[in-house]
Amino acid sequence: MNAPYIGRFAPSPTGLLHVGSLVAAVASWLDARAAGGRWLVRMEDLDRPRCEPGAADAILRQLDAYGLYRDGPVLYQSQRDDAYAAALDALNARGAVYPCACTRSQLAQAPRTHEGDIIYPGTCRKGLPPGAGARSWRVRVTDANLHVHDRIQGELQQNLAREVGDFIVRRADGLFAYQLAVVVDDAFQGITHVVRGADLLWNTPRQRHLQTLLGLPTPAYAHVPLVTNAAGQKLSKQTLAPALPETGRGAVLGQALATLGHPAPTDLEGAGPADLLEWASAHWQIENVPLRPAIANAAP
Ligand code: GLU
Repeated sequence: MNAPYIGRFAPSPTGLLHVGSLVAAVASWLDARAAGGRWLVRMEDLDRPRCEPGAADAILRQLDAYGLYRDGPVLYQSQRDDAYAAALDALNARGAVYPCACTRSQLAQAPRTHEGDIIYPGTCRKGLPPGAGARSWRVRVTDANLHVHDRIQGELQQNLAREVGDFIVRRADGLFAYQLAVVVDDAFQGITHVVRGADLLWNTPRQRHLQTLLGLPTPAYAHVPLVTNAAGQKLSKQTLAPALPETGRGAVLGQALATLGHPAPTDLEGAGPADLLEWASAHWQIENVPLRPAIANAAP
């Protein structure tokens, strides 16, 4: 028998949800509902300095207002340090991680990916330079093609050694890295299906690598198209995306459904979130979700 479906939405409370985050939330909610599964919310408040006071509660109210009800208590990453520390210990016990002394400025000359991210050159892989103190912790990667199937994007292939390098699992400021926390928590919550924004697509091979090292199951992955502004930028706090409106929610939700390749029928024009979501969960077909990013309406 197949494992029961458990999905999740994992917002970072660095600000309120906008149209782009709504699309990811709606997609994961619908995929869970259509499968008769459960849908959980995890608050990724790991990066304390970037979290905005009050944003976590405000996000939960936004989800409720848009009809995206959850099926269990919210998990807060800020309360999970012991679990992440245990995972780091387990990696250390098998020699999979090492301390790194490199500073950002020392890595300024390192090779970079197309996106401008540093490919770690392995400076501290064989030990810290004499006299240098440990700053962060990195996990060793392998020089092999890692394959991941994505239910929307198709087959992904990445050579972590050549395209990413040994990556950080505990940061120089002592905080655990997103990659480690997400893998530990997806397993802890029993997540079987991850549906999230395509900006996270190329994190998946790193997460798969950590799952293998930690002996954790790998969920099925699906990455939904991003919503961009008219300048082609991802909607985010940095690009000043407006928070989801508190009126006209049905119209905004209708727009999110259209972005996901599920435009509501005309007789649902003017309908509220509950009716739209009921229709969409009965008609959800992940193969109808387009690959292309959508452009948000200029008007909020
Ligand atoms: N917290 C991440 C974000 O808001 C999402 C992480 C995930 O879904 O894996 O971008």
